[in-house]
Amino acid sequence: MTASDIAAIVAQLPKAELHLHLEGSIAPETAAQLARRHGAEITPAEVAHRYRSPDFPGFLDAYKWVTSFLRQPQDYALIADELFARLAAQDVVYAEITISASVMLRRNQDLAANFAALAEAAERSKSRGLRVQWIFDTARQFGPEMAMETARWAARLAPRGVVAFGVGGDELALPAAELRPAYDLAREAGLRAVAHAGEIGPPQAIREAIEILGAERIGHGIAAALDPALMERLASDGVTLEICPTSNLRTGALARQFGAESASLDRHPLKSFFDRGLRVALSTDDPAMFETDLIAEYALAARLGLDAPEIARLAEMSFHAALLPEPDCQSYLARFRKRTSELGLL
Ligand SMILES: [Zn+2]
Repeated sequence: MTASDIAAIVAQLPKAELHLHLEGSIAPETAAQLARRHGAEITPAEVAHRYRSPDFPGFLDAYKWVTSFLRQPQDYALIADELFARLAAQDVVYAEITISASVMLRRNQDLAANFAALAEAAERSKSRGLRVQWIFDTARQFGPEMAMETARWAARLAPRGVVAFGVGGDELALPAAELRPAYDLAREAGLRAVAHAGEIGPPQAIREAIEILGAERIGHGIAAALDPALMERLASDGVTLEICPTSNLRTGALARQFGAESASLDRHPLKSFFDRGLRVALSTDDPAMFETDLIAEYALAARLGLDAPEIARLAEMSFHAALLPEPDCQSYLARFRKRTSELGLL
């Protein structure tokens, strides 16, 4: 079966996406529109060019640059409505969306008003058959106090759909122990814990995210491929790795972890993780910046060697790893299995 056959099948499955940054989903046309709204003239082609960064620091710069056009609640509402329409068009029925809450705080924006606009967009998306929950993320390079402030806001907005606290940004900027108090605060407020780790950092960063921060899901975690004992542990503990192949290629993370010659997707450890029984949630990370979508990532998984039943098992894992109450999780799983058996996949 070719990758495009797989894409056609996956398009017909109800899907969940768990590692998806709102601010990485801004289409070049929309970024140009936002820039104009705030008095800057940029063409979509220029935005697309900025999105094609040569390495990880370049990617962080592009992210910072595009978020500078997000200034008020209606800007956030616009990008959320567009993202949700694209997700619904792919039959994504459940999404956990990460918001760079610490970026809003650092820019002295009205986080409560921005989030109210986002929560309304999530409400509107229900009519498209999409359920959304939120993860508040702090950028590691902003330091421990900003992490605390972001965790406080996450706790405050938990009743409106924030389900987890996480850390992203420059993985090498701050030791995990410095973030521990923020994670403790979030946990005490009933929030779940996720963390980017082992994307550009070493296997040890994944261990620390689990042991020190209590992360139950790891963003990327591709460095685990360098450490068989860690892979074994992730499999036996049931820790989910949120795997975003195109992102790893485009940010240079793959080349950084596995050597310069691996500037090709074929070196991605997704299949090896899958074969070893690790839990994996396939995602896009920043779909507009990396010119991808969830169905395209499944087609890549097929290119990396997963056959159709394995692709279906992979897609099912995202529902297992969703931060949902158990009955909701089971009801999505039942719906998913019904569809896969109709399609003769499982
Ligand atoms: Zn990410």
